[in-house]
Amino acid sequence: MSSTLQQLLIPTCGGGPEPPRNKVTVVGVGQVGMACAVSILLRELADELALVDVMEDKLKGELMDLQHGSLFLKTSKIVADKDYSVTANSRVVVLTAGVRQREGESRLDLVQRNVDIFKRVVPQIVTYSPDCVILVVSNPVDVLTYVTWKLSGLPRRRVLGSGTNLDSARFRFLMAERLGVHPSGFHGWVLGEHGDTSVPVWSGANVAGVGLRALNPDAGTDADPENWKETHKMVVDSAYEVIKLKGYTNWAIGLSVAELTESVVRNLNRIHPVSTVVQGMYGIAEEVYLSLPCVLNGGGVASVVRVSLSHDEAARLQASGNASRLRGYKKTIELT
Ligand code: NAD
Repeated sequence: MSSTLQQLLIPTCGGGPEPPRNKVTVVGVGQVGMACAVSILLRELADELALVDVMEDKLKGELMDLQHGSLFLKTSKIVADKDYSVTANSRVVVLTAGVRQREGESRLDLVQRNVDIFKRVVPQIVTYSPDCVILVVSNPVDVLTYVTWKLSGLPRRRVLGSGTNLDSARFRFLMAERLGVHPSGFHGWVLGEHGDTSVPVWSGANVAGVGLRALNPDAGTDADPENWKETHKMVVDSAYEVIKLKGYTNWAIGLSVAELTESVVRNLNRIHPVSTVVQGMYGIAEEVYLSLPCVLNGGGVASVVRVSLSHDEAARLQASGNASRLRGYKKTIELT
């Protein structure tokens, strides 16, 4: 009956439903996944949004809740299922599935538990969206991005991690607040490993092209009487602090993931600090994922910017990834 009414009211003109052009999938509908999903919806980046999780009731509840807001959105189709066929033909797949840090737990503590989850998730993603760009968010993000790359068989440019995009955003917010300007007015990059060993590039930090070190050569060092270095310590501590206060972090990572997704779906060639394979750069010999400024476009990571680092910063970058921990983890991770 209703189809008869539909045919009378809205007869087709020989056309039919069009396949999605900018479909985005979010795997994991926990705090981070939903913050990513909502940020992507509000920025009008996807013509179709797919959600996947193993918790069926939660997944259905989140789906219905978002669908009920469709009137206020410009994403005409929102779908969800635990079966990965629902993700077919995605342009971008955001991986947030897994366990998160508990209070006092480091990101690296999560590794094997999340690797086991990724072994189930990644092959299915690639089966249904062989041409997608995968953006890994789950922690430890640099290790899991490497794992995703290996499990997926995709070219390295199409597997990236959110990396220090969030650390850099925190840094820019905290520095800008101290300087009394908007975060977009302070230019500073945090590179390397997301989290505890991230590297602030003080040598390039500037406002309107004026380097901080041109005015205060000790900015960011122990010798600095103004202790600007403290700001990076606050960046490192900030996730622990937020987790202690509210149990998890989600809004800032969700917003930052939408920014990265936009650069891919709109083919922007914008530069972001994201996790990519850094082998052969800055004396790093191994295949490890670490964040460097990357040009992001529709194909993923198009290129990596050669940043001028001070000796100290280059040494810290090597230490951040290559030297100890990540290499150690690569040896212990069971991928098969
Ligand atoms: P959460 O516990 O709220 O959500 C995780 C979701 O993953 C749950 O809904 C769970 O059911 C789902 N899941 C588990 N196994 C799955 C599987 N096999 N397939 C599909 N879904 C599965 O956790 P959260 O707070 O949303 O955090 C998610 C991840 O994001 C954590 O690893 C966390 O550390 C990480 N995170 C990363 C950043 C970053 O900057 N990269 C920032 C914050 C959080």
